[in-house]
Amino acid sequence: MKYDVIIVGAGVAGLYAALHLPSDKKVLIINKRETFKCNSFYAQGGIALAVDDDDISSHVKDTLEAGAGLCNEEAVLTMSENSRDTIDDLIKRGFIFDSDDDGNLLYTKEAAHSRERILHAGGDATGRYMHHFLLSKNLHPMLGNARVVDLLIKDGECYGVTILDHRESRNIYANSVIIASGGVGSLYEYHTNAPCISADLQGLCVLKGIKLENMEMMQFHPTVYVNTQYAQKLLLTEALRGEGATIEDEEGRRFLFDYDDRGELASRDIVSKAIYDYSKKTGSKIYLSLKNFEYHYFMQRFPNIFKNLQDIGFNVPTQRVPISPAFHYAIGGIKTDLNGSVPNVKNLYAIGEVASTKVHGANRLASNSLLEGLVFAKKTAQKLLKTKINKKFIEFDVSDEVMSLKDDKEKKNQLRKIMWENVSIVRTKRGLNKALNQINVLLERKIGKLLKFRLLTAKEIVIAALARDKSIGVHYIKKEDNN
Ligand SMILES: Cc1cc2nc3c(=O)[nH]c(=O)nc-3n(C[C@H](O)[C@H](O)[C@H](O)COP(=O)(O)OP(=O)(O)OC[C@H]3O[C@@H](n4cnc5c(N)ncnc54)[C@H](O)[C@@H]3O)c2cc1C
Repeated sequence: MKYDVIIVGAGVAGLYAALHLPSDKKVLIINKRETFKCNSFYAQGGIALAVDDDDISSHVKDTLEAGAGLCNEEAVLTMSENSRDTIDDLIKRGFIFDSDDDGNLLYTKEAAHSRERILHAGGDATGRYMHHFLLSKNLHPMLGNARVVDLLIKDGECYGVTILDHRESRNIYANSVIIASGGVGSLYEYHTNAPCISADLQGLCVLKGIKLENMEMMQFHPTVYVNTQYAQKLLLTEALRGEGATIEDEEGRRFLFDYDDRGELASRDIVSKAIYDYSKKTGSKIYLSLKNFEYHYFMQRFPNIFKNLQDIGFNVPTQRVPISPAFHYAIGGIKTDLNGSVPNVKNLYAIGEVASTKVHGANRLASNSLLEGLVFAKKTAQKLLKTKINKKFIEFDVSDEVMSLKDDKEKKNQLRKIMWENVSIVRTKRGLNKALNQINVLLERKIGKLLKFRLLTAKEIVIAALARDKSIGVHYIKKEDNN
């Protein structure tokens, strides 16, 4: 089987790239599980954009400030300049953002944005609506429940992928491959991500010598309800704080102002660190108070959060909800240029959360990731269509590597703990070195290839964190332990 393009991943990035590839191209979209199992499906708050031309400089400024000097300014400008067109394209194709009774789009504000510039859909179900919409517009065949376990690369050129389909491996060939496989959530004990987002392609890139960058930049979300039995925890969107939710200790004190003048509206790394520090110092439980919301407004504006919390047993918005930070978003990823190309491997591209365009630098501004995924997916599809491909096809043997062993699951859980305890919100050199040793020990054991992907990615995160002595953005390394 040979395709023009294989897209690995059916989140917003993969689907929006597919939307820009004409139906006469032979395209195959591969995804690991059921189509809704992706981070896109869970995005709540919304999508940021520069509301008009005048807002571009301010959106860029906010993004660069959050990124703390590590953004690629050209990438940020590209994202912001293309944001209005991207949103208009979605609307023209029939996507419906929330609007008022007169049809005016409802913009909201989230932490560290200097104005209201976030659009949302279904109240707090932006990702689900957008993902469903893009699926409904998709013209290309999809292969679900198939996991990419190898990239067919020879002499610096990509020829396709190996997939694991119903426990059997087989090769699928293509002129070009776009990786859109999302982040790394399952590496952490507490996270907000879809369970199948487990760093397969990042680990594969390490095995293939493909460069990952900014891997120390892992973002933690401050307001997550973690007392559930599954590793994927319930996110309570930033938009809640943007619209009046407050964070308090057991006594009802809004302690965030001890840490930052913006209180609840400080960026999420500052809020996460403050919660971590305060609860450690005082032993107090931390709560999200929703009491500033009027009951009916809350129910309509945040219908899913309302329902989820009511189902758990919280009488919201009256009753406050205990919260903790949890892993949320992989800022770093596969190094790409602004057209999604992966350097040094011809016809290989990466987009969305798996990619590093350096749009987010050292810290991602809320709601910029759906936007990044869409903008660079389109640019990648356009680049790919313009690229003349002149290659002679070669056959690759299907690898017979062992994918998983019986006790890999236990080791996966060990890794999650290692990452949560020593490679999360507050890091120390000692903790990072300890994590590195533990990961190396696990790598030396007899393990399947799928676990190896996780361990190799985790190792990259730790090595990158060890290489950065100073705290910046989401990477916070505690000074007194720097020895
Ligand atoms: C709870 C939550 C709330 C969020 N809220 C917002 C928000 O309000 N605004 C915002 O901008 N961002 C938000 N984000 C972040 C944003 O949703 C993601 O960054 C974005 O959706 C990622 O899109 P993607 O297409 O790159 O990846 P995903 O949507 O994660 O899709 C990845 C795809 O890759 C597939 N895949 C993975 N591995 C393999 C493999 N080995 N083989 C084959 N397929 C594979 C998966 O099956 C999936 O189809 C949120 C994230 C979460 C988790």
